[in-house]
Amino acid sequence: MASPIPPGPSSVRVRAPAKLNLALRVGPPRKDGFHPLATVYHAISLFDEVQATLAEPGVFEVTTTGEGAELVPDGDDHLALRAARLLAERYAADEPVGVELAVRKSIPVAGGLAGGSADAAAALLACAVVWDLDVSPEALRELGAELGSDVPFALLGGTAIGSGRGESVVPAMARGTFHWVVAFAQHGLSTPAVYRRFDEIGDPPAPADFEVPDEMLNALLAADPARLGATLTNDLQPAAIDLQPQLARTLEAGLEYGALGALVSGSGPTVAFLVGSETAAVDLGVALSADGVCRTVRRATGPAPGARIIG
Ligand code: ATP
Repeated sequence: MASPIPPGPSSVRVRAPAKLNLALRVGPPRKDGFHPLATVYHAISLFDEVQATLAEPGVFEVTTTGEGAELVPDGDDHLALRAARLLAERYAADEPVGVELAVRKSIPVAGGLAGGSADAAAALLACAVVWDLDVSPEALRELGAELGSDVPFALLGGTAIGSGRGESVVPAMARGTFHWVVAFAQHGLSTPAVYRRFDEIGDPPAPADFEVPDEMLNALLAADPARLGATLTNDLQPAAIDLQPQLARTLEAGLEYGALGALVSGSGPTVAFLVGSETAAVDLGVALSADGVCRTVRRATGPAPGARIIG
């Protein structure tokens, strides 16, 4: 008798993007301690990769290489592994599964670019494929929201409006390609520490202000980098600068060298500069590197797709 045909590939590679928050409006903390957000997410072409390989049932392992790998926690604190376990618990409870995950990082750890969320998103998709699970993109996003506020967007990609804790995402109308220069800082920033500092500084926006700016949505629709640059905004930026004062100099330097707009990404400390073309991105990258205002620079474009199978 012929042996049954295996249901799918035994190994899958998925990549998922880093995110910028083009606008990040933060309200006062809710009763559950979370801050309500109104944000415009924008995925950029800086990707982490997760390879999922079928393993014996009950085996859940992860290895990490690349940018900041030594800072990523081992075992069950690793967001990619937590994602795999959660998916197995919810969608493969009847038939035990196992997986070995190999995570290759390009997104800096604790950089405000949601690298951990990208890894969780990539692991969810890769495991769903290798385990041959019947799970819709919407169901995957719902599961992602349990792992972290930015995971649903890492699955969706593109440009999107986020609300709630950031986990509710709706695609935004945007045209064209935007060019970014991304400046990595020497050390990461802890997201909870930045929110604590935000609370200490006080002055959260009144609920009436608590929306993403219309001018930003119009600039995205018009594919106009100069207008978009003028609308970039981040309520967490003062708190991030308070914790890493050198960020003020990084922001200033990029603007002096001709960026159309600049902001700290999310809780920082990565700084993103918007420019008008690929050539301008090369020039700005060289100027920032020569100036020494950051650890390293990368060029990226956006919007980039969400988590995708690449092999
Ligand atoms: P947040 O998504 O909380 O805003 P961030 O984007 O600044 O954070 P991440 O790189 O996502 O930073 O990591 C936040 C923390 O999550 C890290 O300091 C690390 O301890 C933990 N972590 C767990 N798994 C991962 C992972 N796969 N990659 C990066 N960090 C991870």
